[in-house]
Amino acid sequence: MAQPIAVSKSVRRAIGIDDGLSEFSTEEMYREILSRLGEDPGRDGLVATPGRVEKSMAFLTKGYQEDPAKILRGALFDVDYDEMVIVKDIEMFSLCEHHMLPFFGKVHVAYIPNGKVIGLSKIPRLVEVFARRLQVQERLTRQIADTIQEAIAPQGVGVVVEARHMCMMMRGIEKQHSSTVTSAMVGCFRQKETRLEFLSLVRQPGAGSL
Ligand SMILES: [Zn+2]
Repeated sequence: MAQPIAVSKSVRRAIGIDDGLSEFSTEEMYREILSRLGEDPGRDGLVATPGRVEKSMAFLTKGYQEDPAKILRGALFDVDYDEMVIVKDIEMFSLCEHHMLPFFGKVHVAYIPNGKVIGLSKIPRLVEVFARRLQVQERLTRQIADTIQEAIAPQGVGVVVEARHMCMMMRGIEKQHSSTVTSAMVGCFRQKETRLEFLSLVRQPGAGSL
C-alpha cells in the first residue's frame, strides 16, 4: 500500500494548499500575537487594539495598491527647460522590511529634463507610494530614481534619502542622533559637477528645511 507523502509547509504554500491560517481574520491573528507577547488581549486597553493595528498596518502599507508609473503618467508636461529641477526636504515615513519598525526622514529629488517635466506635486506622491511599503532604504532610493528615469527619460536623476531607523535606535545599535544617507545617481548625475551642484543645493537652507 502506498504511504501517504508528507508535504512540507513551504511546498503546501507554494502549491496553494490552505495551511489553516486563512480561516482566521487578521484581527484574530493580532490578538494571538498580543497573547504570545505575554499580554491579556481581553483587558480594557487592548480589546480594540487588534482592529486598530490592522487598520494602521493597512494604511502604512497602502503603497502596494498604487501604481507609481500611473501617478506620473497623468502629470507629464513638455517643456523647453534644461536646468536642474529640485524638490527637497520631502517628508518620508516607511517601515523597514526586516523588523517592520519605522524609519523616517527626508528625501531630496532632482533631475535635469530632456523635453519633459513632472508636475511638482507628483514627486512627493511618488515618494509616498514607495515609502508606504515594507522597504529597505537603499531600494526606496533606487525605486524613486528609476521610476522618474523611466517616466520622462531626463538627462539624469539624483535622489538622496536621509533617514533614522527605529529598529537601530530602539535596539541601541545606532546612536540616537545618527542618520543613514543613501543616494541614487542616474545619467548626468553620475558626473561629479552635476552631483556636487545637487548636493550643495540640498544642503542650502531654504524654505521648508529645518
Ligand atoms: Zn530594521
